[in-house]
Amino acid sequence: MVIRPVKKSRIEYVDFDNLSFGTNFSDHMFICNYADGAWGEPEIIPYAPIQLDPSASALHYGQAIFEGMKAYKDDNGEVWLFRPDQNIKRLNKSADRLAIPQFPEDLFLDGLRKLIDLDRNWVQSGAGNSLYIRPFVFASEPCVQASPAKEYRIMIICTPVSSYYNSGEVRVKIADHFSRAPQGGTGYAKAAGNYAGQFYPTQLAIDEGYQQVIWTDAATHQYIEEAGTMNLFFYIGDKLITAPISDSILDGVTRKSVIDLAKNRGIEVETRQLTVNELIEAANNKSLREIFGSGTAVVVLPIHGFGYKGKDYNVEQSADSLALELKADLTSIQYNRTDDSYGWCVKV
Ligand SMILES: *Cc1c(COP(=O)(O)O)cnc(C)c1O
Repeated sequence: MVIRPVKKSRIEYVDFDNLSFGTNFSDHMFICNYADGAWGEPEIIPYAPIQLDPSASALHYGQAIFEGMKAYKDDNGEVWLFRPDQNIKRLNKSADRLAIPQFPEDLFLDGLRKLIDLDRNWVQSGAGNSLYIRPFVFASEPCVQASPAKEYRIMIICTPVSSYYNSGEVRVKIADHFSRAPQGGTGYAKAAGNYAGQFYPTQLAIDEGYQQVIWTDAATHQYIEEAGTMNLFFYIGDKLITAPISDSILDGVTRKSVIDLAKNRGIEVETRQLTVNELIEAANNKSLREIFGSGTAVVVLPIHGFGYKGKDYNVEQSADSLALELKADLTSIQYNRTDDSYGWCVKV
């Protein structure tokens, strides 16, 4: 692996007290090209714009995938990655679905650790602070033929973040017309195009006063799936319900960690389909205690209400909500403030 460090860090120009999500990038980036049927030698080089041929196939056919993960700094200044093995496994699952060649797991983990080691000053300590890591792969071959490309590029870039959503109450709209992912589609992959297709319906929901859309199954709009950047949990009666992973739902690392932590608290977790009708009934008869989302960016995000076909429903959250307890459980592991009995954290 070629490592070419910056001559001078840009870190002193970053205002860490006023970060806007995903706009400042750390000093270095990881890059590796695929050509002639094989990945070449990876490089870690100064962060900079890249050259791309205008006919690069990712720009035309969306053959592009990504990942999202974080590095955390503990109170002793040590830097930790959270379950990075899960991210490279998922990147390769996404790669298969988009007909992109897999990237070797060991090369990824080695490159990632070297990159984060070089940029460790960019991982700020303190609650809510972390370095958001964005690995991505795209078809770089200069060719507008509508078929899988023969050249690709994997890159990893990093952006320091503080708390993702610090706005007030979160209200979501349950989709009754638009869809995120059909059965047999690319919903389980972190495909770039999955996001592009959500922007327009999400903007319509924002115009109606919601922050996000809860997606339902594309065929009937009866079954609740996920929020498009977060998986969802519903605390109804004494059970915590989350949709089973399918080909239209992304297998979130935060989701599976939250399931383990909830079980560890003695909560009964039901991985099953939940219909919109059942949710509305639970809201009406007050057995619906909480709704929350889970994802790397937000960790755990309480949802205070939802709208469906023009009617709004409130979800009252108590100060000692399960969502916030699970968030505390998870972040204490991520910031190495508690015993990591699951072996989720990897030291850089
Ligand atoms: C990334 C993502 C999530 C959350 O996954 P995590 O691994 O927990 O960050 C949920 N849904 C979709 C569609 C996603 O792309």
